[in-house]
Amino acid sequence: MDLFEYQAKQLFAEYGVPVPQGKVASTAAEARAIADEFAAAGKPRVVVKAQVKTGGRGKAGGVKVAEGPEDAQAKAEQILGMDIKGHTVHRVLVEEASDIAEEYYFSFLLDRANRTFLSICSAEGGMDIEEVAETNPDAVAKFPVDALTGAPASIAAEIVKAGKLPEAATEGATEVITKLWDAFVGKDATLVEVNPLILTKDGRVVALDGKVTLDENAEFRQDLESLTFAEEGDPLEVAAKAKGLNYVKLDGEVGIIGNGAGLVMSTLDVVAYAGEAHGGVKPANFLDIGGGASAEVMANGLDIILGDPSVKSVFVNVFGGITACDAVANGIVQALELLESRGDDVSKPLVVRLDGNNAELGREILTKRAHPAVRQVDTMDGAAAQAAELAAK
Ligand code: GDP
Ligand code: MN
Repeated sequence: MDLFEYQAKQLFAEYGVPVPQGKVASTAAEARAIADEFAAAGKPRVVVKAQVKTGGRGKAGGVKVAEGPEDAQAKAEQILGMDIKGHTVHRVLVEEASDIAEEYYFSFLLDRANRTFLSICSAEGGMDIEEVAETNPDAVAKFPVDALTGAPASIAAEIVKAGKLPEAATEGATEVITKLWDAFVGKDATLVEVNPLILTKDGRVVALDGKVTLDENAEFRQDLESLTFAEEGDPLEVAAKAKGLNYVKLDGEVGIIGNGAGLVMSTLDVVAYAGEAHGGVKPANFLDIGGGASAEVMANGLDIILGDPSVKSVFVNVFGGITACDAVANGIVQALELLESRGDDVSKPLVVRLDGNNAELGREILTKRAHPAVRQVDTMDGAAAQAAELAAK
């Protein structure tokens, strides 16, 4: 999970990494009020920064220096609502402007290929580091960091040296790096990037920007919920998450429900392939209802999928294992009844393929119930073809 810049900076501050003072605003009036506070404290110059989870905000016009509260309000007005690479700006960070002497680059990340951590450090920061790495590879130091040793001052000093940071920044940068390592480990991050890490004209090393990715697998011991916002992500995904479903919205027309991530992944492939014969019909989502497949989980899944206006047909693909097909079939029947009793529209065609443990029993249950929306197909390919055909109608 990626954090917004202001969240990354709050996290940095928690670990003692110097960051500019700042606050978040979601309206231009709020931005002005924050700038008023800075002006009252003798800091009329502020920076107004778009809070979106993508880089290159500066180039896109999402980072602007303002000369006082009135200007801050005007700049916030320009930036709020702006679209930056498909991300709408809902908030701006208003912070005290920094007097920049130099801009560097620093990051810690997980180096999966080499099964270690890596730090990247360069005296040429501020801009696109990929570009620097391409045009001037010697200017970008890549320094492996052992998980057990981490980055104490001795290692941090080596990183700073490898990155060819100047003497004036050495002490400050070394300290910042040790603290960033503590933050990286303490928050179970997979990326901590500071671009630019600046040397101010008065000789301080400060994180002027921050990008942090946290490992969602560490959710059980980290408070990730307080860092997320309802307006982020697709509304169907947000609703699915609230119901505890493993759902990803895609842009097709065939709703997919399956048990087991592997089966659902291959179902997406099979449906996309079958859809080629029907004008390019595609899967509308990924939804793995997992092992249990109770009536409630099935109802929740169908509820989300049938609530997606782009869904024209649904493919329920179940391979009975520990949860037998008769239990799944009962789940489907009860789910349909549950949705109908709530007055939901369940008329979109449901193509069901049951195979594996107790498949015969499961099919019998569905045949007996004879729900008008449900049709059964015995094979995965056959069911995908029918679901694609129905979606194309
Ligand atoms: P990004 O473009 O999304 O990476 O946003 P950054 O936070 O890195 O800002 C882009 C650039 O804006 C930085 O590299 C700086 O040159 C400039 N900038 C940001 N904050 C300040 C500031 O407080 N003072 C000055 N003078 N420039 C700033
Ligand atoms: Mn940046």
